[in-house]
Amino acid sequence: MTSATSPKPAVDFHKLRLDGVYRMNDQNELMLRIKLPAGVLSVAQAGQVAELADSFAGGRLHLTTRGSIELHRVKAEDLPLIGRGLAAVGLTSRGACGGAVRGITCSTSFSAHFGTTQALARRLHRHFAGNPHFEGLPKKFKIAVEDGYQGARHLIQDVGLVLVEVRQDENLYDVWVGGGLGREPQAAILLEEKVAEKRIIPLIEAVVRTYCKHTAPPRRLKYLLRTQGESTFRRLLQQEQGSVPATLAAGGLDAAPEPGSNLKALTARIFAGDLDTTAFRRLVDLAARHTAGFLVLTADQNIAFAPRSEKDRQELNRQLTEGGLNGSAPEQRTIFRVCVGNHACRMGLCATREVAREALTHMPEAARDLSWAISGCPNSCSQPQLADFGVVTSGLTKDENGVRQPRFDLYRRTGQNLGEKIKTGLNLQDLMQNISQVLQ
Ligand code: SF4
Repeated sequence: MTSATSPKPAVDFHKLRLDGVYRMNDQNELMLRIKLPAGVLSVAQAGQVAELADSFAGGRLHLTTRGSIELHRVKAEDLPLIGRGLAAVGLTSRGACGGAVRGITCSTSFSAHFGTTQALARRLHRHFAGNPHFEGLPKKFKIAVEDGYQGARHLIQDVGLVLVEVRQDENLYDVWVGGGLGREPQAAILLEEKVAEKRIIPLIEAVVRTYCKHTAPPRRLKYLLRTQGESTFRRLLQQEQGSVPATLAAGGLDAAPEPGSNLKALTARIFAGDLDTTAFRRLVDLAARHTAGFLVLTADQNIAFAPRSEKDRQELNRQLTEGGLNGSAPEQRTIFRVCVGNHACRMGLCATREVAREALTHMPEAARDLSWAISGCPNSCSQPQLADFGVVTSGLTKDENGVRQPRFDLYRRTGQNLGEKIKTGLNLQDLMQNISQVLQ
């Protein structure tokens, strides 16, 4: 038992990772990441997140490219209260960081198959999130469910599932494995085509077991594939599939509530995914009044709405326009994914939001309609290799005054694969110069 005068126990920051918490800086401020299955958040949950952000995170939120929400500058002593606050609305941060199956992401394209992919993503979330069998992995393990090949996000997952056929009795998915970005970007390989939905969970479990058995920390699955080769990986996986009976998938809804197949979603554009709780609450209120009661965090760090009716859609559009959030404002027109960089990340080598703002002022008019992304370090959290143009902060070098300045690599994506590096080691001025000429 600790008395009132006992010193505070030291915080084990490494252990906190599995609870979705990273240390942000030497002042021991923390980042807490909330896992949102498929990026969907009910109005009640969103209201609670706003409350928690107000009470414990200085009234700000950050939307990630994996449809999660981060609270920054949280204190260790507030974690229990935040955890209970999240649990009260069915949310968790468990497994959002560290060696665990991370939040399951899902397409937010609102296609006709929105409900189908959402249902699978939720089923995977129920099965893997917080399940001790899938914690303590060598490193993070990312799963995404996509409703098609547009966006190519299947290429950067440990397991990427792409819906390719919708049937009366069963949906079929192409299964991709072993992708990832970071310092050594690697595109996933196609493991199996047209896998029936009922085989997906046993197959992912076998991939996770193969990964754990044959990969030392802190390596990801892509390392196993690269070092062992595809044929060895397939052999190991086959052994694993045969050795342990598959866990039965729990039943559940076959499809998430369908918002309507001719849905025309509206998106609030949030620059760099960074917003305060006043703006967030306004959006939550719009969702309460004009949707079936939920909002969706997109992979481009925006917030999408599925209006209930054409009238709701018009009203929502009017409100977003009035609030300067419908994408017509200069800062919001361009899709520009921005990681937190050194604004809130220990690994960050540059002020990503400022560099992104500067880039917007330099890029040619026609490039404003292409997709862009910037990462504050080679970890590539904003997925620069999936944007038409990507910027990775590659390191720091001293300038003539001895001040450490960031260096940047510029990526260009033109085909179906990951973007390729076209310039390396640029200083800020050269980066802007190159950005002003990207279309020449
Ligand atoms: S890319 Fe680097 S700087 Fe940006 S959030 Fe990820 S780890 Fe932090």
